[in-house]
Amino acid sequence: MRFHILTIFPHILDSYFNESLFRRALQKKLLEIKVHNLRDFSEDRHKKVDASPYGGGPGMVMQAEPISNAVRAIKSKVKGQRSKVRIVLFSTRGKKLDELMAQRLAKYDELILICGRYEGVDERVAEHIADEEVSIGDYVLSGGELPAAVLTEAVARKLPGFLGKHESLEEVKGSYPVYTRPEILTMGRKKSIVPKVLTTGDHKKIAAWRQKKGR
Ligand code: SAH
Repeated sequence: MRFHILTIFPHILDSYFNESLFRRALQKKLLEIKVHNLRDFSEDRHKKVDASPYGGGPGMVMQAEPISNAVRAIKSKVKGQRSKVRIVLFSTRGKKLDELMAQRLAKYDELILICGRYEGVDERVAEHIADEEVSIGDYVLSGGELPAAVLTEAVARKLPGFLGKHESLEEVKGSYPVYTRPEILTMGRKKSIVPKVLTTGDHKKIAAWRQKKGR
């Protein structure tokens, strides 16, 4: 699976994708992450990618042209006519990302992720270029780059082999409260003890407790 991230800050996510599970997945060629600098697709002499909004108002708006050019360039290089491509625009007005959406997006061969900046993106990108608009939550960030990283990770976790055996277990484990050593935790004068049931060795009771506490 290939992730294309369209941004004006092409190095902003480098260190994140170079550690841990992503590092391993990229080395194993389980997935590919291609970052495209939108400025490279600007037709402006000064590589501008933004302009002031029609109708006035503060701030700048990202122009549709560089985005359209970048998407066309990427699509023209997509191997195989049958490759399934999905174009996502990050927007505060988009559909909220959840596990179901991640599962659905994991079925594509190529995901093109468009990161907005400034006051947002010329609406014609949402209307004519993107297949869907996605929000990662009800708050406003400065750009679509963190949303792109969040979506990439949520989707990558659905790809077979991305999670090792160990992490796959963590996936299940994470849904109920977990404890580890020491059994009695001392925090200054305060003490906190691990729930009794977990130290009984009674697996039936433990399973029932986890069921009850799980989400
Ligand atoms: N004035 C705009 C904010 C633009 S923020 C508004 O209120 O909608 C600039 C860009 O950051 C957006 O175009 C979008 O691509 C991205 N962004 C910010 N917050 C986001 C969120 N919660 N989810 C997804 N993308 C977000």
